[in-house]
Amino acid sequence: MTEKTCESALAVDSERLWNSLREVSAFGATPGGGLDRLALGDHDRAARDHLVAAARERGWAVAVDPVGNVFVTRQGTEPDLPPVLIGSHLDSQPLGGRYDGTYGVHAGLEVLRALDDAGVATRRSLVLADWTNEEGSRFSPSMLGSAVYSGAHDLDAALARTDTSGATLGGELARIGYAGAWGGVPRRLHRALEVHIEQGPVLEAEGVDIGVVTGVYGIRWYDVSVRGEGGHSGTTPMALRRDALVAAGAVVRAVSELADRLSPELRATTGEIVVSPNSRNSIPGSVRLALDVRHPEDAVLDRAERALEELTADVARATGTEVTIEPVLSQPPTVFDPRAVAGVRAVAERLGLSNRDLVSGAGHDSVHLARVTPTAMIFIPCVGGISHHESEDIRHQWAVDGANALLHAALDAAQESED
Ligand SMILES: [Zn+2]
Repeated sequence: MTEKTCESALAVDSERLWNSLREVSAFGATPGGGLDRLALGDHDRAARDHLVAAARERGWAVAVDPVGNVFVTRQGTEPDLPPVLIGSHLDSQPLGGRYDGTYGVHAGLEVLRALDDAGVATRRSLVLADWTNEEGSRFSPSMLGSAVYSGAHDLDAALARTDTSGATLGGELARIGYAGAWGGVPRRLHRALEVHIEQGPVLEAEGVDIGVVTGVYGIRWYDVSVRGEGGHSGTTPMALRRDALVAAGAVVRAVSELADRLSPELRATTGEIVVSPNSRNSIPGSVRLALDVRHPEDAVLDRAERALEELTADVARATGTEVTIEPVLSQPPTVFDPRAVAGVRAVAERLGLSNRDLVSGAGHDSVHLARVTPTAMIFIPCVGGISHHESEDIRHQWAVDGANALLHAALDAAQESED
């Protein structure tokens, strides 16, 4: 057998992958079968220690950067070439699932183990990363570790972020023993690859093995303020009211209908509502709404913004209230490097895995990586499309298929000589 055909037959150890996922699920396990593994808490420390121990067992170098990102390096034969990075995150939502992020880290660990066991030497080094605070549920914003790594977020500002109890991210890193330095951390990359559960229903519904992720939706957030007139619920005749909550209700409905008007790919959500005075027998005088709007194209997001301005003005006119809309966040769509994406597609084909292109509606560390290196993502299905919930689940075979796709995509990239 030539070296090439030998490498094509290479596969992850499906039982070891499944066991390693089961083992890491113990750190922060909830009674409902999920995870409560907030960033830099004791359970996150245990999951990190478990990963580091697995690396040390194989003799792979471990580096931790100043924001606590962990890098495990399996050295290539030409270690001066920029490495191929594979990674995801071990932190979870407060009542999250076992596979969001963790699957990507442990699939990556299995990739390194499989290469070791098969005695495959790669030209470029392979680096497995665990990114700090991806979820953003303990420290805001989300994807903070990869943002600092890629230069999109200031390090000192990140270390000063506080959780609801006032603990700082920097203090928590020191407490759990993950306050590192840039020494030994790869700063120039050849390629970044992340395997992740889809967190949506498409792959499972269509019976497709692998999602080839071509990019990530752009996100815009808006605060809407509705000002009406408060008053007594018993003494104010209906015709004389300017009820801010009734107006807000019309805004909520119109937002939910935006996709029908503009694009089926649009996601428009009113996720928060604050009513004042929020008392049963008082007419609501003011309401604040928090909106989240997503689409893969900036032009459609621009159209959605104009539509929001119009619909809030219409509601104000119809209800006699004052409605203002204020943009609070604008994250442009991410388009992944076409060559990196094509590499993933080619691997899926070669392995006989059915696949389709997808654009991710959720943010990922890969959004930040894409700023500094050609980046691609691989999605596997998750049961019922459920994620950020204790019942999040995957099938053993899906886990194996995704890890094998990652293995071969990483191997292809690691053998490339050109940048
Ligand atoms: Zn995730």
